[in-house]
Amino acid sequence: MTTVEVAPLEREHKERGRESEITEADQGRRGSWRSLVGQVVPYKGMLVLGSALTLMGSFAGLAMPMLTKSTIDLFGQGGASGGPILWLSAAVVIGALMSAAGRFLLERMGEGVVLTSRIDLVNRIMRLRVRDVDQFKAGDLLTRVSSDTTLLRSVCTEAFAGTASAVFMFLGALAMMAITDAPLLLVTLGVVVLVGLMVALVGPKIRRASLRAQVALGRMNSTLERVLQALRTVKASGAEGREIAIVSTAASDARNQGVAAIAWKSTAGIGAWTLIQLAFLAVLGVGGARVADGSMTVSALIAFLLYLFYLVSPIGQLISSYTLMQQGLAAVARIDEIRRLPSESSMDFPGVDGEPLGVIFDNVTFRYADNRTLVHDGVSFVAPAGGMTALVGPSGVGKSTVFSLVERFYEPQAGVITIGGRNIRDWCLGELRASLGYVEQDSPVLEGTFRENLTYANPEATDDDIQQVLTKTRLNDVVDRLPQGLETPVGNRGVMLSGGERQRIAIARALLRKPRLLLLDEATSQLDAVNEMRLREVIAEVARDTTVLVVAHRLSTVIGADRIIVMESGRVRGAGNHQELMASDELYRELATTQLIPVV
Ligand code: ATP
Repeated sequence: MTTVEVAPLEREHKERGRESEITEADQGRRGSWRSLVGQVVPYKGMLVLGSALTLMGSFAGLAMPMLTKSTIDLFGQGGASGGPILWLSAAVVIGALMSAAGRFLLERMGEGVVLTSRIDLVNRIMRLRVRDVDQFKAGDLLTRVSSDTTLLRSVCTEAFAGTASAVFMFLGALAMMAITDAPLLLVTLGVVVLVGLMVALVGPKIRRASLRAQVALGRMNSTLERVLQALRTVKASGAEGREIAIVSTAASDARNQGVAAIAWKSTAGIGAWTLIQLAFLAVLGVGGARVADGSMTVSALIAFLLYLFYLVSPIGQLISSYTLMQQGLAAVARIDEIRRLPSESSMDFPGVDGEPLGVIFDNVTFRYADNRTLVHDGVSFVAPAGGMTALVGPSGVGKSTVFSLVERFYEPQAGVITIGGRNIRDWCLGELRASLGYVEQDSPVLEGTFRENLTYANPEATDDDIQQVLTKTRLNDVVDRLPQGLETPVGNRGVMLSGGERQRIAIARALLRKPRLLLLDEATSQLDAVNEMRLREVIAEVARDTTVLVVAHRLSTVIGADRIIVMESGRVRGAGNHQELMASDELYRELATTQLIPVV
């Protein structure tokens, strides 16, 4: 019973979510015009030339019925010669050449706009603050860089230039009709008004269906990306069927909306075509009568009828330009959403040698978002320059967050962080990060070769440097076993490596950077006892020349630290070395005894 009640509710909720996405996209449209035009401005020369050539091509097309009329007149007067046919052929060829050249220039401009906006978007995304990136799904960002930018090309070519040439053709055909026979034009205008009314009626329906299709496509991409990121978990959980169903639903949704858009477009197209046919019959009737009473020539009637059919293609073009423009504006709104976010300052900073850096947290208060509880509620501690300081405490107390604040991925709401005697806010961000080595909790390894991963934080590292860290981290045996040594690919996110190997690569990478402050977050958690002991020695050795800040649950890793900071409930509850804390801090003693470390 409950499920029967819940399902429609869920559906309604989802529907409402989709509607709000569409309304948002709809609203974004208003602010997007300027931005869209701004993207085309750098290519204005190409746009003008391309459009001019296309228009001239259309002009040659427009001249055809007139030339046809003159030819028929000439034939009628018995003056048959090949001349007019030659003129007609020349008009066709020149028109086609100009249209093709114009089209090429416009397409090229479209590609240029796509390239510029892609590079700009990638630049923005790389420089976004971590805080802002947290708000987005990776799949959604991917869709913005790939599909949304692609839509801009169609906007530039089809929508901008297509509209210009359609309007020109449309008005041109009407003008030529007026010249050919004004009374018949009145009959035609009645039809044009009907077509206009129909487009005004159907246009918004096409737009909404197209936007829905875009949103559904974005949803499909996000779902697929989420699945691919955790494919092993999906398989191990036997969730393939459910995930296929979710992705298929989004895909069918995109199909349904696409079909709806096409249905409306076809309705508009067929409607316009039928109205033109009716106009043809009306013109034929009225025109025939005018020819019969001698107020119009047969050739003029033929030219007029040809112009009538010239109206069909601009009307079709205007309908599809309108749809494309709406899709393009929605895409621009999504691209602009990223553009409006603040960027971090330039990160290009050469590696910096120097003294080890001490770290001081003074009454630091931090929460990840306004609606989140405080992670740090007045955290204060000192990690002296040189030597090793360890952060310990129960899971979730904010140990990794200390590292995120030191890297300035986030800014604290209150309190002062001092690095190397300088307020962290006074550091140039590039210089600060260039001075740090950071091994994240899940030791990410990037797709690429072993060597690329090692030298990722210091591409200038020499072979000697690499050899040294390989020995230190005991990776040389691993490299020796690999089929292509250092040049062996490690697979997507390092799937071809073991967890411990990934951790050692991450440590080696950080060591190659020769940091003044090394941050190790659970860096040895996946190592066997022998390798862990070896790395403990390496870290102790590194700590002689630099400051090392470690987070570890395994107390065996931190027992030899010069200073251990014990965190609990967003605060620091004690600090000292192992012996001092065993004597003075109950929580630390508890952590130590549960890990079978002998109570000293
Ligand atoms: P562990 O020992 O399990 O790694 P930790 O002490 O390192 O834990 P943190 O990773 O610093 O803890 O997390 C502290 C709190 O902040 C947790 O409650 C966590 O849920 C929350 N948190 C961490 N990262 C984010 C984030 N990006 N956005 C929102 N909340 C977060």
